[in-house]
Amino acid sequence: MIIPEFEYFAPGDLREALDYLASHGEEAVVLAGGTDLLVRMKQRLVKPRFVVSLKNLEGLKGIREKDGVIVIGPMTPLVEVLENEKVEKYLPALRQAVGKIGAPSIQHFRGTIGGNLCLDTRCLFYNQSQFWRSGRTPCHKDNGQTCYAEENSDRCRSANQSDGACALMALGCEVILASSKGERVLPVEEFFTGKGEAPFAIEPDELVLEIRVPMPGEGAGSGFQKVSYRSAIDFALVSAAVSLRVVDRRIEAVRIAVGGAGAAPLLLKEAAATLVGMPIDDTKAIEATSDLAKKHASAFMVENLGSSLEYRQKMAHILVRRAIKEAIAVATG
Ligand SMILES: Cc1cc2nc3c(=O)[nH]c(=O)nc-3n(C[C@H](O)[C@H](O)[C@H](O)COP(=O)(O)OP(=O)(O)OC[C@H]3O[C@@H](n4cnc5c(N)ncnc54)[C@H](O)[C@@H]3O)c2cc1C
Ligand code: SF4
Repeated sequence: MIIPEFEYFAPGDLREALDYLASHGEEAVVLAGGTDLLVRMKQRLVKPRFVVSLKNLEGLKGIREKDGVIVIGPMTPLVEVLENEKVEKYLPALRQAVGKIGAPSIQHFRGTIGGNLCLDTRCLFYNQSQFWRSGRTPCHKDNGQTCYAEENSDRCRSANQSDGACALMALGCEVILASSKGERVLPVEEFFTGKGEAPFAIEPDELVLEIRVPMPGEGAGSGFQKVSYRSAIDFALVSAAVSLRVVDRRIEAVRIAVGGAGAAPLLLKEAAATLVGMPIDDTKAIEATSDLAKKHASAFMVENLGSSLEYRQKMAHILVRRAIKEAIAVATG
């Protein structure tokens, strides 16, 4: 597949990048490592006139700690997230998730954490070549009027399969967006719209400037779980991430996220609430929470990721349970 023609621009600093997006944003896309964007361009799923590479923006790279927050630059290569000491110590769910992205070639070669957070939603009936798709009328995500995953659906039901996004949802990060007009801060829940056609609350003239993850306090732990066809290369059929705190052998401050289900990593607040105050060894409570998480996540799933709905739903329960246990194990040392 040949990539369509586009005008390429690699600004030397952030101001230049933001000015360029201010004047070309509607017809431009931001390029990080290109491991997803270039594939979608080849498939003609996205046809930008202008491509703005962030590769020269050194300020968007790196991980640092500031005022009790771990600040991650979006252009930080996945391998640096994997090898960072603070991520290893404080954000194990993120480290595990990044270690599951694609394969070492993607983690070590070009993939970035910002590109992973902004990974477009996916669907078996959409992430195909132009030739494959030309045999059907376009679906909602392709600017059409139909959906092949869910009969009579008036909207797109594509799924967020980003491993990093699922972990960052559970860890409760903030996303800092920048444009030539200034900056704004979005809690991760508001960064995702939940709409398959346009999954991110990013304006055409904006880019992700920073990902800020609060430093977990004493007794905190987190875990990430994923199931895919093969252990490498394949996207999640379903994933789960959990962060929590253990105080006096009881569970507090729980966040549960499930990926590969809806158009955003789902933050399952009701299920998480059932675990608050429970003893860490209350297996019945963990089972009940996992069951509720499965029930809520199942409502968002449709048959569009290449394995049966029943299997993905069953795995949602199992992965949430495993992620809770993993987070407790980390929290209790
Ligand atoms: C074979 C294969 C297997 C894969 N497996 C997985 C997997 O298992 N799990 C997974 O999560 N991903 C997977 N991916 C997808 C992808 O490789 C990763 O998500 C990677 O981290 C994307 O990062 P990137 O820097 O290459 O992003 P890019 O491809 O450059 O960009 C991705 C999207 O993010 C946007 N973007 C990037 N940076 C910014 C920014 N700073 N501000 C605003 N928008 C931005 C781009 O415009 C684009 O829409 C796979 C890809 C391939 C080809
Ligand atoms: S869920 Fe439906 S509308 Fe969305 S990409 Fe798939 S087929 Fe298209």
